[in-house]
Amino acid sequence: MDKASAVHLCQADGSISCGACCGLYNVVDSSQKNLESLLLQRTLLFEQTPRTADHIDDFGRKIKSAMPRGRPYKEFHHCPFLGLVGENRQRVGCLLHPLSNGNENTDWRGLSWYGALACRTYFCPSHHKLANSYKLIVLAASDNWYLYGLVITETDFLECFFGQVEKLLGRELTQNDATLTKDGKKAVGDFLNLKLVWPFRRKNSPLAHYFFSDGLYAPLPAIYPGHKGPAPALDAIFRALHSEFKNRQEIKQATDIVEGMAGAFAKSLCR
Ligand code: SF4
Ligand code: SF4
Repeated sequence: MDKASAVHLCQADGSISCGACCGLYNVVDSSQKNLESLLLQRTLLFEQTPRTADHIDDFGRKIKSAMPRGRPYKEFHHCPFLGLVGENRQRVGCLLHPLSNGNENTDWRGLSWYGALACRTYFCPSHHKLANSYKLIVLAASDNWYLYGLVITETDFLECFFGQVEKLLGRELTQNDATLTKDGKKAVGDFLNLKLVWPFRRKNSPLAHYFFSDGLYAPLPAIYPGHKGPAPALDAIFRALHSEFKNRQEIKQATDIVEGMAGAFAKSLCR
C-alpha cells in the first residue's frame, strides 16, 4: 500500500463509510431520507434471505426491479447489495461482504454485477491521490456516512480547499492538523456541507458524480458569465458543486463563502 492510500476510506469507522463506487448515489432520489429508508428496507429483507446463490440472486433481482427507472448515470450500475452494516446497521456497506451480518465469513460478492475481484480490488482516485492529512481531516470533520460518501470521492474539490488553507498557513497540512478544534471541525464541516446547500448549483444536476477514469461522463464545467481570463482559483470547487453563476457578483459571493471557510479552518490551526 502506498503512503497516500494508508488511510482506509471505505469502512473508516463505526459510523463513517462510503458506497459511492457501488453506485450508492446513482439513483433517482439520492436524498439522505430516501437512501436511509431504501437501505434499511433492503437490509431487513436480506436478513430474511437464506444464504444460497439462488436466494441471493433472487433478492438482487427483486431489489433491482423495484428501483425507479432513470438513474442519473445510466451506464453506472447501482448495486442492489448495498445496505446497512454494523451491529446497529449504522453505516452503509456491502451486504455480500464476508464480515456482514449473517454471512459467516462467506464472500458472496461473486454474485454481484461487477464480480468479486472488482469489488475487492477497486479503489477510487481519492484513495490513491489524496494526501493522508486531507483524508484524516475529512474523516475527523464527518459525522455521517451520507455526506461523507458524497464528498470523499471529490478529489479535486478537497485538494483545492486544503490547498487554499495551506496557502494561508504558509505550510503543508500534516496529520497532526486532523486533531480538530471545535471551530476547525465547524469550518471543514461547513465546507463539506456545501455539497448539499450550494446556492449556485445548476438546476436538476445530480448530487452523484462520476469519478471513474473511463471517460464515459465528462465533468461539467462551471459557468462564469462575464468572466475573462483564466478560470478562477476555486474552479475545481465550483465545478464539483456544479455551479452556474448568473453574473460576476455571484462569482465573488461564492469565492467569499469558500475563502471564509478556508480562513476559519486556517485560523483554528494557529494555536
Ligand atoms: S468510492 Fe472510494 S472511498 Fe468510496 S467505497 Fe469506493 S473506493 Fe472506497
Ligand atoms: S457487491 Fe460489490 S458493488 Fe455491490 S455493494 Fe458489494 S462491494 Fe459494492
